[in-house]
Amino acid sequence: MSIPTLQEALKLDKDGIQELKNTLKEKIQASDLNAYIGTLEDSDTNLLPIAIKDNINVKGWEITCGSEILKGYIAPYNATVIENLKRSSFAPFGRTNMDEFAMGSTTASSCYGKTLNPKNKDKVPGGSSGGSAAAVAGGIALAALGSDTGGSIRQPASFCGCVGLKPTYGRVSRYGLVAYSSSLDQIGPITQNVTDCALLFDAIAGYDKMDSTSAKIEPPNTFRALNSELKLRIAILPELLKDADSNIQNAYQKTIDLLSKNGHTIIEKQMLDTSYIIAAYYVICTAEASSNLARFDGVRYGRRAKNLSNLKELYLKTRSEGFGDEVKRRILLGSFVLSSGYYDAYYIKAQKVRTLIARQYNTILQDCDVILSPVAPSVAFSFDACKTPLQMYLEDIYTIGVNLAGLPAISLPVDSDGGLPIGMQFIGKAFDEQTLLDVALHLENTLK
Ligand code: GLN
Repeated sequence: MSIPTLQEALKLDKDGIQELKNTLKEKIQASDLNAYIGTLEDSDTNLLPIAIKDNINVKGWEITCGSEILKGYIAPYNATVIENLKRSSFAPFGRTNMDEFAMGSTTASSCYGKTLNPKNKDKVPGGSSGGSAAAVAGGIALAALGSDTGGSIRQPASFCGCVGLKPTYGRVSRYGLVAYSSSLDQIGPITQNVTDCALLFDAIAGYDKMDSTSAKIEPPNTFRALNSELKLRIAILPELLKDADSNIQNAYQKTIDLLSKNGHTIIEKQMLDTSYIIAAYYVICTAEASSNLARFDGVRYGRRAKNLSNLKELYLKTRSEGFGDEVKRRILLGSFVLSSGYYDAYYIKAQKVRTLIARQYNTILQDCDVILSPVAPSVAFSFDACKTPLQMYLEDIYTIGVNLAGLPAISLPVDSDGGLPIGMQFIGKAFDEQTLLDVALHLENTLK
C-alpha cells in the first residue's frame, strides 16, 4: 500500500500504526533476508515507521555503520533527517544493514553478515544501502532512508526493484550522517513507488544550519506539485552502453522508445571516457574517507581493543581489529593519494577531473531537462561472483559521476530479466528534484 493511501486508512483506525509495527516486527522476525540489524522503534506511536540505514544517528540507538569498530556506540543525538521525519508524521523504525562504512556495492562487507536480495536469494541486493532496499522490496519496510556517495541508494534500489532518490548535494542535511566522503554523501529515500519517494523526500529536505554544506533555499513540496504530464527534452548517452550487459542495453532502448512514443524529445549526447570518472571518484572518496575515519581510534567512539600497553598500541590494535578489509584498503589508498609526494599527481588531478565532469553534465543539462542512463551495467550478480576490488569499482560507472557533479538522480524499475529487476535513472539539474519525480512518475504510470 502506498504511503498516502495508508495515511488515509489510518485516519479511521487509531490503533492502526501500532498494529502495522507489530505486523512488521513479526514479518522481520520470520524473514531470512538479514535486511535489519535491529528493530528499535520510536516511542511515539502515532508516527509511520521508516527503516533507517545504520549510518544515520538516532538518539539512544546503537549506530555502527556495519562495522565492528563502532559496536557499542550509542548515538547521543538525532540526525537532522530524523528530526525532520518526526515533524512530518514519520518515525525511525529499525536499523538496516549496509556495507561497512558505506563502502561497497553488495552489502556483503557488513560485520553482521550479508543481506539477501528478496527477488533471488543467491544474488546480492546491491549496496551499500542493501538492507534498506531489500527491506522495502521484501515487504518488510514501508519505506527507508539510505545514503548515496556513489550510487548506494540507486544501485540497491535497481537490484531489488524499488525506487531510490539521491538528492542534490546540499538539499538534505548531512548532520548526523556518519561521514564517508563528505563532498559526495547525501541521504535519500528508498520506496515502493515514486509518490512515496516524493513524500519522504519532502519530509527530509531543507536547509539546516548544523550542516555548513546545506543549501539555503526553500524546502520543496514535490508531492503536492507532482505532474506526470510534462513533455520533456531527455538526453540519452548511447556511447556509455558499451560497458553494459545486453539485457541492460535492451531495457535502455525499450525505455527510450517508450518515452519517445509518449511525446518526449530524445536527444543523443556524449560523455567523457568513463574510466576518468571511476579514477577521479576513487581518488577523492578514499582521500576523504581516510581523513573522516581517522576519528575511530578507540578513544571516543565504540569499541576499544583490550590488553593495551601504550597509546600507540591502542590506536593500532583498535583499528586493526575493528575495520574490515575494504575499509582498510581505502584508508591506505586515501592516505597515499594525500601524502605530500603524491598529492598533486593524484588528489589535485582528480579534483580537476571532477570539475570537468561536472561541467559536462551541466553542458548537457543546459540543452535538456533530464538525462536517462542505466543504473548499473548488470542485474544483481551472485554472491560467489568473486569480483576483485577493481572489478567492483567498475560496477559504479553509471552512478558515481552524478555524485561528483552534485546532481540529483532517481532510479526506478523499468524491466526485468530472469526475475531480476532492471532499473534506469533520470539525472536532473541541481535542485530540480521536481522534474525527476515528475518524469519518474510518468514512466512508472506508463509501465503499470
Ligand atoms: N559503490 C560505491 C563505493 O563503494 C558507492 C558507495 C556509496 O554510495 N556509499 O564507494
